[in-house]
Formats: sequence, structure tokens, C-alpha cells
Amino acid sequence: MNSAQTKRNILSSIRLTVREMDGYKPDRTPAELYLDANECAFPIPDELRAEIDTALRRVDLRRYPDPEALELKQAIQERYGVDPAGVVVGNGSDELISILVTAFGERPAKVLVPTPSFAMYELISSCHGLLPLTVPLAETYDLDGDAMLKVVEEESPKLIFLASPNNPTGHCFSREVIARLLEESEAVVVVDEAYADFAGITHMDWLGRYDNLVILRTLSKVGLAALRVGFLVANPLLAFQLDKVRLPYNVGTLPQTAAAIALRRWELLQPQIDRVVAERDRLAAGLKGLPGIESCPSDANFILFRTADARAVYRGVLERGIRIKRLQGPQLDGCLRVTVGQPEENDRLLAALTEVLAALPPKG
Ligand code: PMP
Repeated sequence: MNSAQTKRNILSSIRLTVREMDGYKPDRTPAELYLDANECAFPIPDELRAEIDTALRRVDLRRYPDPEALELKQAIQERYGVDPAGVVVGNGSDELISILVTAFGERPAKVLVPTPSFAMYELISSCHGLLPLTVPLAETYDLDGDAMLKVVEEESPKLIFLASPNNPTGHCFSREVIARLLEESEAVVVVDEAYADFAGITHMDWLGRYDNLVILRTLSKVGLAALRVGFLVANPLLAFQLDKVRLPYNVGTLPQTAAAIALRRWELLQPQIDRVVAERDRLAAGLKGLPGIESCPSDANFILFRTADARAVYRGVLERGIRIKRLQGPQLDGCLRVTVGQPEENDRLLAALTEVLAALPPKG
């Protein structure tokens, strides 16, 4: 058997769903300014950085990390007042989505997601052989509660993923509809609060009320994306089961240590979050003033907007040194997403967009 044949045979053994998937490939086109990945525009304050650096220097690199991440869980308890027995930590919240799907994934289980939303819910579900069911958001970009509940009744999904604020639309879903889904379905409802710090809204206070609620959080959006630290909070019985699926050393000692410090020194991070929120509102006003752009109200650290020609606008902005996010899929025709930058970055983006839009050929 020659090597080409071997390769062909091996590939045909890979699950069809995997072979047919596109996978998730972040845009790596070089640019001067990256406003595409919803990272925090502001570097973490020197004081916090210094504390983290000092602690990291003391880490014994010979040893495996604490598999239970006790120190980090304690810091999570101190910051959010949640029972550490209900916490599972992940290598980013992406990994926690994967843990949830693995644990609830008795095939052919179904997973319900509104669209458009975070692509990984569907991607990870398909990867694990689960069937993602999608329900379009209402015109207002809020959840279509009745349509979601109809699918719940007819298809009995095991999991429902709701990002609030939602990515890529940017707004929070109504709490009433989330509560209805929690109350009227047997499914576990995962409320992904990746951007909750910019909205000032959380559903953590509902944990005692609903035993089918799971909250997902991440440190990636508040200036610590390099760490890859996320966590979920659920009722302890559920967390205990989910924790069995987690690989024992999924989060290294360096990220565990840095994350615990950041959570304990949140007062140093909060001013940055406030600056992002202030800049978001200024950027939103700037975008509103541009002809040819229709933007979505945002509670997050990014803004979604629609133009007549997303491809040309993406290219034009990139030619001016700025990488933004081009979106594809149902309900996202012509849509682009920009992460809120520092003030001068947002000014540069608005200037670039003004030029690019002026150069577009007239419609029709
Ligand atoms: N949830 C949502 C809604 C997101 O937008 C993202 C990042 N794009 C994530 C989860 C994943 O975050 P991380 O894996 O960096 O924690």
C-alpha cells in the first residue's frame, strides 16, 4: 500500500460530519489594527500586570497544575458569591461548550440555538454527532420565544445555548423569554455571559431558582484572552457530572494563577470595562452618523452593522490597515462586526469607513 492510499483510507474512516464541516478558522490576515476578535482594546493596568508577573515567576513548572483548580474556584466564589462546588473551569469557555455537549450528547440528542449566534454551539454539537436545531431571532434581534418553545415541545432538545449579550448581534436577550425557556422546558439552558461585563447584567442570581440553568463566563473579553480561562456555574449536582468529562489538567498553572489574581483585583479591571462601554457608545453614535450603515444596538464590546457590500467594505477597511470581522450565514447578509477599540482606533475606523463607503458605487 503506498502512502497516498493509506491517506485515503484513513480519511474515509473519519466521521462524515467531520469531513463535511468547514471548521472554525479565525482570520489571520495581517493588519495594523485588529478590531475583529472582541478582545479588550486596553492593556491590563501595570499594577495588575506586575502582580501577575510576580506570581507567575514563583510557579513550579515541574509540577502538573491543580486538577481541581481550588484557588481559582475560591477566587470565583469571592467575586461572584457562588458555591465553588458548582463551578467547572475550562480552557476558555469554548472548552466548556464542548464539555456540556459531550456530557449531554447521547446520540442523536438535539441542541437548540437561536441564529445568528456564536458559531461554536453548532460546530461543536455537529462535531460530537449531535443535531443542532436553529430558530431565527425575531426582527428585533431578540429571542423568538414562541418559536423556540415550539421546537422545545416538538423536538425535546437536551441543551439550549443562549448568549446574552448575543454574538454577533450584540444585544441582551429578554430575561422574560430566558425564564420561560428555563421554566417550560426539560432542557438545560446555558446562558453564555461572555460579554455580560459590558452589559452589567447577569443571570447568576437565578442559579438557586433553576436547577437546569448553566452560566458560562470567560476572562477573554476583559483583557485576558491569552490566558484561555473560562468557567461555568451550575447546581453542584450537575457540575459534579460535568466535571467528570473535563480532562484532568485542562487549565495550566500559569493561567489558573493569573486568573485568580485578576478576579481578586477586579477593581483594577473595572475601569477598563467602563472605558470600553463609554467608547462603545461613542463608536455607535459615530456609526449611526455614517450614510449606508445600519447598526445594531450593542450591550457588548463590539457592534454589528449592515452595509450594501460587506465584502468591499471589509477589503477597503483592511487596505487602510484595520481588520474587522466579516460575517456569513442566514440573516447576516451584508453584515460586519467591529470590536470597540481605544479612542484613536475608533476614530481611525470611522475615518476609514467614511472613505470606503464614499467610494462604493451607488446602489441599483
Ligand atoms: N461565547 C461567546 C458568545 C463568544 O463570543 C466567545 C468568543 N468569541 C466565547 C464564548 C468563547 O470564549 P473563550 O473560549 O475565549 O472563553
